[in-house]
Amino acid sequence: MKRVYFDHSATTPIDPDVLDAMLPYFKENFGNPSSIHAFGRNAKVALEDARERVAAFIGAEATELFFTSGGTEADNMAIKGVAVQFCEKGNHIITSKPEHHAVIHTCEYLEAHGFNVTYLKPDQYGMVSAESVAEAITDKTILISIMHANNEVGTINPIGEIAQLARENNIRFHTDAVQSFGKLPINVKELPVDLISFSAHKIYGPKGTGGLFIRKGVKLTNLLHGGAHERNRRAGTENVAGIVGLAKAVDICRQRMVQDEQHIRQLRDTFHERLQQSIPKIYLNGHPEKRLAGHLNLSFEFVEGESILLSMDMKGIAASSGSACTSGSVEPSHVLMAMGIRPELGQSAIRFTLGRYNTMEEVDYAVEILPEIIKRLRAMSPLA
Ligand SMILES: *Cc1c(COP(=O)(O)O)cnc(C)c1O
Repeated sequence: MKRVYFDHSATTPIDPDVLDAMLPYFKENFGNPSSIHAFGRNAKVALEDARERVAAFIGAEATELFFTSGGTEADNMAIKGVAVQFCEKGNHIITSKPEHHAVIHTCEYLEAHGFNVTYLKPDQYGMVSAESVAEAITDKTILISIMHANNEVGTINPIGEIAQLARENNIRFHTDAVQSFGKLPINVKELPVDLISFSAHKIYGPKGTGGLFIRKGVKLTNLLHGGAHERNRRAGTENVAGIVGLAKAVDICRQRMVQDEQHIRQLRDTFHERLQQSIPKIYLNGHPEKRLAGHLNLSFEFVEGESILLSMDMKGIAASSGSACTSGSVEPSHVLMAMGIRPELGQSAIRFTLGRYNTMEEVDYAVEILPEIIKRLRAMSPLA
């Protein structure tokens, strides 16, 4: 059976060159970067080399880059770190409803510990405006955290404007850039953002590795306590192989960003057009233009997203309904709900996210399979 992977927002396959770059750090170069002998020094060199390459990719200094166990940890480190550091100054945080759970649940935790959080409502496309952020700012606001691009619908937020606003008001600005990192240009010399989260496994790197950019001079309370790793900001022996893999994945993104984006966008748009021709009553969720090249989130009226997923899976096609983290629950996605999508349409949503190695043949196959599935499910639906 064919196997088609259209779920790159959940995770990506590891690039073969990334795996090759990592392997020596599981084998002969297994040293602990904190050790002073040759094994340790080799690992330390690899670690610092990776840091320089990843930092350079976003226009940062190596000293502004901190490796973590992924996007979730980076989000926690940024948000809790600023909250605790600045709690004497104020207790108000601004974020948005369609954020990833790594941000939402972190903010909910802080609410339970005395912070006030404003969850901004996005527009119908899932976009958060700088005006809505401006209106929410109070003299108690210490942090604004707004994602760069949304993981479910791909909509890209105006983070340049929001970052500028935060700076003018002397408020720290964090962005969860896990979805955009490696896909959209990010340059911290031009973008006045203080903290940026990213993750390797969304860009053809390994799971369990990511990082946080912390602008020079931005103070944070530590999330993890222990040894003096990561210049005293993130304790724990570094995941050297993972970090080497992350840096390699970044190198490949740097070389292929433009080419990948064109290829993926072309596949995605062709897929969308052909589905529109062959299936009635399908609706795009997310911004028609200002969204990531790989995202196609569609509502198939009258059918349950979960049923579509299962039927597609039997034909070897992998996608997701809502976000991967909420699959299995019957709740419609919090992102689509925040956008004001009707609950029935929310429950009929499927997120296709295309990636670097997808082909037009795979799109052809999906276009051949999907109309039959939808037709059959609609025939069984009490709603249709
Ligand atoms: C995947 C994802 C995360 C979590 O990153 P992990 O490395 O899986 O912990 C956070 N935010 C967004 C937007 C994501 O897509």
